[in-house]
This record gives sequence, structure tokens and C-alpha cells, in this order.
Amino acid sequence: MHNNLDPLNRRKFMQRLGFAALTLPTVSHSFATRSMDKPFQTGAANTPDDTAQPARKLGVALVGLGGYSTDQLGPALKETKLCELKGIVTGSPDKAQKWKKKYAIDDKNIYDYKNFDTIINNPNIDIVYVVLPNALHAEYTVRAAGAGKHVICEKPMAVKVSEAEQMIEACKKADRLLSIGYRLHFDPYNLQMIRYREKETFGNLRKVYAKDGFKIEPHVWRLDKQLAGGGPLMDLGIYCVQGALYTTGTLPVAVTAQEGEKTDPEKFSEVEQSISWKLEFPHGVIAECDCSYSEEMNLLRAEAEKGWFALEPAYEYKGLSGKTSTGENMKFPQVNQQALQMDDFARCVLTKSKSKVPGEMGLRDMKILMAIYESARTGKRVSFEHLG
Ligand code: NAD
Repeated sequence: MHNNLDPLNRRKFMQRLGFAALTLPTVSHSFATRSMDKPFQTGAANTPDDTAQPARKLGVALVGLGGYSTDQLGPALKETKLCELKGIVTGSPDKAQKWKKKYAIDDKNIYDYKNFDTIINNPNIDIVYVVLPNALHAEYTVRAAGAGKHVICEKPMAVKVSEAEQMIEACKKADRLLSIGYRLHFDPYNLQMIRYREKETFGNLRKVYAKDGFKIEPHVWRLDKQLAGGGPLMDLGIYCVQGALYTTGTLPVAVTAQEGEKTDPEKFSEVEQSISWKLEFPHGVIAECDCSYSEEMNLLRAEAEKGWFALEPAYEYKGLSGKTSTGENMKFPQVNQQALQMDDFARCVLTKSKSKVPGEMGLRDMKILMAIYESARTGKRVSFEHLG
């Protein structure tokens, strides 16, 4: 169903949606060049085209009004050009009132977890964004697709490979688009890492280091295996896996992993405290990755034949910093990663194009995360087959 509009039909389609005719060639070209077969490219359209305004912004409903929705997605939806915050789904009447006031949300666009499915009858909501604890991603993505909505689901996509497959299937069946909240694909610093590799600025890549960690407070769902699916690997390791894959531009062939020592067994009674793993890529390229809930780390570094290039911090929302072996200090304007990510998805919906961070990429990463756990558990090297 995706990417099957020829330029002429795409133009008619865009016109029906109310895009200004003069902006069409730029918009359609950007999306025509995007393909799932090339998941590691910098991509043509990472900045929304200011001139391409739909007649109506697509309506987004956030499901789960916790930290990420409150501090990042809500504010970002004030900056988006192709979509806007129209609805909320929350179990807390207090939060509903606060959000209603802050974002002028209509009562008829406010849902709780029980009546969520009636969103099917709401034409103001085009996109449902699932921002719940990891173990609830699958259920709400499937329900959103069943209600005829396009879906953005936060990372990690799910807690099991089979769930990720069900989510993709549900969206396919409902003819809806599915995307994962991989905001760093819209961040200029991380895109520059891809560009250095694509241009072979430092020659062939040899090694990548990816590390992400912070000191977690006790008694949070992130330490509850049922809700989180695992520990820092699920929450932070996903950034390292992503970084390793888009920096190398290839898929790994195998992984070996080791869980770190638990210095606070009480806090980490259900999930790992830290975990390290080595991804093997074709041509002897390797990525050494670490993540932890008890150590501050935030690095993505690539070593190549003729030098290195690195980000530290690499995965933050703001304040990223990049350097190279030739003394270059990367300098890019501050962007709102989440606004770019959501606008890109809105444009994909409007143009019926596949997201460059689709559900299939989330599924691929789930397979890698599960293989890392398997290797740590068995002590054996795990080979990958059918990563996508
Ligand atoms: P949070 O704890 O701040 O918020 C979770 C929300 O889910 C709360 O509003 C809570 O009330 C609600 N909820 C509903 N049912 C629940 C249940 N059974 N148990 C616990 N909470 C329940 O978490 P968060 O930091 O907002 O994370 C939410 C999701 O967003 C996670 O999947 C996380 O990985 C992802 N996230 C992504 C980024 C990113 O940069 N892409 C950043 C932060 C979080």
C-alpha cells in the first residue's frame, strides 16, 4: 500500500489534502526517494518544508501523560507544522484537567484507558502516539490500529518479538502506518555520523563504541520486569543498538553479551543493572556496546581506517557534541527532534509514504535485544538470521 503513488497521482492526492501546488515537487520527491531497502541513509527530508502546509493539521492523541509526554512531546506538538495535539488518553482525571487547560483540548477528545476504543468515532484524531510503559505498547498499538488510527509507538517497540510482529500485522490489516519514536534519525549530529560513513570521510569503518547509562532512582516501572520487559538494555541499550546499526550502515551477523555485576541486588532484583555486548558486522567490523542503570555514559564513537568521529553526549534531546580526529567540532543548529520526528510521520501519513523509522525497524531491534539477552543468559554467541 505504501509508496505506490506515481508522482502525478501523488500530486492529485496532495492537492486533495490541501497542500499548495507549488510545493509539491519538493515534497513528493523527498518521499519518493525514501525506501525501506535503504534503512541507514541520512534520508532526504529531515526538516519539514515550511511552505508545505496542509489545509488541516493532523490530530495527534498522546496515550500516557508521563514524563516524556509532559516534558517533550506536548511541548514539541506546539512546534509541529503538519500535526498538532488534539487528544489525550489518561487514567488520571487530574492530569486530564491540567492538559485540557494547557493545550485547549476539547472534552470530546479526552479518553481514559477503558473508553479508548471509542476513538474510532473521532475524526479529529488521525495519529495515536503510544507513550506508556513498554509492556503496554503492543496492546495500545493494536487497539489504535483497530480504531483506524495511524500509530507512533515509543521505544522499545514492545517487550517480545512476537508482540512487535502482532503490532505490524494489526497496522497492515487496518491499512495504517506504524512508526517507532526513534527521534535521533531526525537529529543533525546523529545524521552527521551516518554522513561521515556514507562519504567515507575517514575511510572504511572498523569499530564502533556505543554506551548509554544513567543512575536510576528506586521504585519505578523501569525496574519492574513485567512492565519494562528488562532493565537498561530495553530502555537505553536500544540507543546503542540503533547507533551501532546506523553508524555502520549494515546489519549485524552475531552477538555475544555479558550481564554486569549487581552491586545493588535489592534495587535490581528483577532486571539487569548493566549489560555489555559485542555486535559483529560483515568485513570484521565490530561494535562494543554498554548500558547501565548505575553509571552515567552517553557515547557514540566510530573508528575508521583514517581517523575517528564521535558524539558525546550522543543521545540527549539537546546539547549534543561531536568531534573528529581532524579536530573538527561539529556545530549544528538546535532542533526539536520530537517535532521533526512527528512532522515527518505526519507527512508520511499525508503522502502515504513509509516512515524511515517504521515498525519493521522496531521489530528488527527487538530481535537484536532478545538475542543480547539470550547470549548473556547462555554465555553463547548468537547468530542472526532474518533481521530484515
Ligand atoms: P513515565 O513513567 O514518566 O510515564 C508513564 C505513563 O504511563 C504515566 O503517565 C503512567 O500513569 C502511565 N501508565 C499507564 N498505565 C500504567 C501502568 N500499568 N503502570 C505504570 N504506568 C502506567 O514514563 P516515560 O518516561 O514517559 O516513558 C514512557 C515510554 O516512553 C516508555 O516506553 C519509554 O521508553 C519511552 N520514552 C522514550 C523517550 C525517547 O527519547 N524516545 C524518552 C523517555 C521515554
